[in-house]
Amino acid sequence: MKVLLVSSEVSPFAKTGGLADVTGALPKELEKLGIEVKIMMPDYRMINKDDFKIEKTGLDFNVPIGAEKKSGTLSKGKTGRKIDVFFIGNEEYFDRDFLYGDETGDYRDNLQRFTFFCRGVLEALKLIDWKPDIIHCHDWQTGLVPAYLKTIYQNEPFYQGISTIFTIHNLAYQGNFPRQLYYITGLSWKEFALEKIEFFGNFSLIKAGIVYSDIINTVSETYSKEIQTKEFGCGFEGVLEWRAKDLYGIINGIDYTVWNPKTDTLIELVYSLKTVKNKAINKEKLLKINELPIIKEERIPLIGMISRLDEQKGLGLIGECIEELIGFNLQLVILGTGEKKFQQILKSISEKYPEKIALNLRFDEALAHLIYAGVDIFLMPSNYEPCGLGQMISMKYGTVPIVHKTGGLADTVKEFDLNDKSGNGFVFDVYLPGELVSTVERAVNLYKDKKTWRILVSNCMKSDFSWKASAKKYTDLYKRLKT
Ligand code: ADP
Repeated sequence: MKVLLVSSEVSPFAKTGGLADVTGALPKELEKLGIEVKIMMPDYRMINKDDFKIEKTGLDFNVPIGAEKKSGTLSKGKTGRKIDVFFIGNEEYFDRDFLYGDETGDYRDNLQRFTFFCRGVLEALKLIDWKPDIIHCHDWQTGLVPAYLKTIYQNEPFYQGISTIFTIHNLAYQGNFPRQLYYITGLSWKEFALEKIEFFGNFSLIKAGIVYSDIINTVSETYSKEIQTKEFGCGFEGVLEWRAKDLYGIINGIDYTVWNPKTDTLIELVYSLKTVKNKAINKEKLLKINELPIIKEERIPLIGMISRLDEQKGLGLIGECIEELIGFNLQLVILGTGEKKFQQILKSISEKYPEKIALNLRFDEALAHLIYAGVDIFLMPSNYEPCGLGQMISMKYGTVPIVHKTGGLADTVKEFDLNDKSGNGFVFDVYLPGELVSTVERAVNLYKDKKTWRILVSNCMKSDFSWKASAKKYTDLYKRLKT
């Protein structure tokens, strides 16, 4: 079976979050299962062409963007054993500092950029003369691919019989644009309908993905149910309910070739469950580079957070109770980028308690690895969470997660039970500051009990979130489309 994976970010080439982790890891697992996979993504400036040995193919194409014609280039690299990765290029659209926007907000021509990308993907297939059985699209940036296949490209012989699957990684990112810009897509006004791409008078690219794909899935069972409700559906609950029989939930896995304390070259000292005491060396290093005091006389838990700083990730909740949290005997290391107001809250609290909180307001892959390895507890109190990778990565590193019971967090973290010593974290049900405070307190108190904590750490490290089972589920979905 031949599968083309299409995504606006793919690790290790370009990453802003979990989407890249997933689209970087899944193809490698599919390859192991005997699927012929290729990948297409935009050719961003930040992609290191030399490091990844990416070369121009010399194949060029043109696509219409509104009334204009824009030319594209196709470059090629590799990942996994022999997976081709194609980079869709256009200087005007992708030769910029960031992927989707800068400090002033989203790029104003994101519609043009990702319309170009989607049409470019379909044109590139013809150029390389490779016809996939399935095109697997991810998030709104790719939503026009299935739409084009079912409209503009539907009568072209080359594209006949290609099926599509659309994975929703986060329904809150929708790619909605005003109706005045609809002409950019080149779609006919027939498609601008309630049961198609129209969305409250404007149009939505994530809706295009939902409506025109043969199968849809989200990244956890729980989230696939949640998004059919008004509370989490972001206005799409109706269309998702309508497509419920084609809607699946498959939990993401973790790429243990990237995230593994036994082999991680970005941490101070590698360790396994047997040598988990080495975690302390990573903790010391982390405290040192964050200029936090190293206190050996007492068992003080170091809590970590690696996150986009926004409402979804629980920053509002943390803001409401940060003083109380800091009142406990703990230290806190935060790594994140995001909303100004949350940066401000964290800045002022870290200036007030410099011996307790260290704040790193940037994107830093290497520091992320050291935090997963060096902290004792990982804080992830998301308001909602389609899947979440941080909690799964942290467990692999023997770092115990504290989570809100929602989406993928509910599917992967179970409260530690003091009686039978089962469970792999601390979970709160109700999204209220008081609940978060008492859960952190529970964790801090249990941390004092070294023996019991060791059992909990062991439960975490033994939890298996490898891609194997999930990749198999994706192949089952692919087969379903082809039988
Ligand atoms: P998201 O909703 O942001 O995709 P996930 O939990 O699914 O959240 O994945 C987040 C990924 O991005 C993880 O690999 C995490 O380690 C990484 N990450 C988030 N913020 C940063 C940062 N500031 N620096 C480095 N890595 C980060």
